Amino acid sequence: MVSRVIPVDPFDLVIFGGTGDLARRKILPGLFRRFCAGQMPDNAHVIGAARTEISEAAYRDMIRDAILEFGGVEKTDEAQLSAFLQNLSYVAIDARGETGWRDLKALMRRKVVRAFYFSVAPSLFGDLAERLNNHGLTDHNSRIVVEKPFGRDLETAQKLNGDLAAFFEESQIYRIDHYLGKETVQNLMAVRFGNMLFEPLWNSQFVDHIQITVAETVGVGGRGEYYDKSGAMRDMVQNHLMQLLCLIAMEPPARFDPDAVRDEKLKVIRALEPVEPHHIVRGQYGADVDDPDEHPDYRTAVDNPKSKTESFIAMKTHIANWRWAATPFYLRTGKRLCARSSEISIVFKDTPHSIFGEEAGRHRNVLSIRLQPNEGIKLGVTIKEPGPGGMRLIDVPLDMTFADALGPEGADNVDAYERLIMDVIRGNQTLFMRGDEVEAAWAWTDPIIEGWTNSNDVPKPYDSHSAGPDASAQLMRRDGREWREVTP
Ligand code: NAP
Repeated sequence: MVSRVIPVDPFDLVIFGGTGDLARRKILPGLFRRFCAGQMPDNAHVIGAARTEISEAAYRDMIRDAILEFGGVEKTDEAQLSAFLQNLSYVAIDARGETGWRDLKALMRRKVVRAFYFSVAPSLFGDLAERLNNHGLTDHNSRIVVEKPFGRDLETAQKLNGDLAAFFEESQIYRIDHYLGKETVQNLMAVRFGNMLFEPLWNSQFVDHIQITVAETVGVGGRGEYYDKSGAMRDMVQNHLMQLLCLIAMEPPARFDPDAVRDEKLKVIRALEPVEPHHIVRGQYGADVDDPDEHPDYRTAVDNPKSKTESFIAMKTHIANWRWAATPFYLRTGKRLCARSSEISIVFKDTPHSIFGEEAGRHRNVLSIRLQPNEGIKLGVTIKEPGPGGMRLIDVPLDMTFADALGPEGADNVDAYERLIMDVIRGNQTLFMRGDEVEAAWAWTDPIIEGWTNSNDVPKPYDSHSAGPDASAQLMRRDGREWREVTP
């Protein structure tokens, strides 16, 4: 199955932080793949911008190397790469000074979409917004893209929103949560709202509980200093897991348009109940016993022997509305776990009565939405175990792994960043977080963090390559439930 590519309008895209890690690993390789796919018009102009004084030729070489390293293109076609780099420029610019802004203005064209990607520290967002405005680089049709973290609490998020709102309308601001750009996340909406089968069952009456797991095998790596000030709650739950929870729990929007979808997500966030301290488990990973020098324990990795920041969190929460009252949502995320896996599981209730008798066995239907790796959707259904020997029930998956069901082209061969950048150029904000959503998410998160900070809570140690601290399993067992296994 070959996916249909609809080219976007001509655009000028400025990447502030164009020499940084994100630009080199994700943004520019992603743009190149869209270029190869024929989605970028030939005359699309990409401009890298950062303080470092380098020539345009040196910048093109840097990005050529980055694309070859991170592009994920099987056999990079030299002609395509050269054509892409032809339309790549560089400006040395200081977000906090006046250097470079005139040069940037001179490079930009009229009558094309102008987009500005703020791939820099959030402390520069306000400076960039102000200078873009002061130098007359934007009009009502210009867009800005901002990266996470969008604040570290409600107050800082409000400040960032205020700094951007001083110069841009909300309709011009694209706050990236790359989880929303994943194919399966959008498929989650297609499954929910494109089929009659699931929606009638999508409530407390039929759903026992919902699990959302985002497990990573990597540790903090080179991000130790940042991570230790953040932790799993700020780094993952407040944004990525919250967004997934919203898409699962929201009411059907009237239309698939940005504000209709985001209005419904906002209602979910505002209906989230505060989390009781005993419904939270925090953990810190230990050293890899096979290679403690290369993969030390969390505190060594962040160079803070007394750190109380969590590299793992599991929690139970509830949504106080008619649809979900009494259905627990269990969220779990952590680093250096046994497998890399992001999965949402909707665990349905038992049948009210087993006509086959308890000895036949009972299995609950589970709808698993797998975000990575091996994106796909599986529905566990109960059937008879084949063969003689009476009626014994087994659980088999109706499997819709996209690569199997749709062929290689159907699998998610479009990275989340590529998809989201093309959405920016198209002017479609559906998969981006609105300012009030982000603030509502922090308003729910802040008291939870304050709770453990005030009580001086210390995260529990857990083994590298495990499923997290034992207390996480106990959190479920107390409720007579089990986490789904974390499998690669
Ligand atoms: P990075 O590698 O440290 O790059 C920062 C970029 O900003 C560099 O190009 C730097 O170049 C430029 N810069 C710094 N100060 C500047 C100034 N005053 N004026 C103009 N440019 C300036 O950071 P990164 O990892 O790419 O991350 C960028 C943003 O994305 C951050 O907000 C980060 O939290 C977020 N993010 C990153 C990732 C990731 O995987 N890397 C993932 C999610 C979110 P010069 O020093 O030459 O100016």
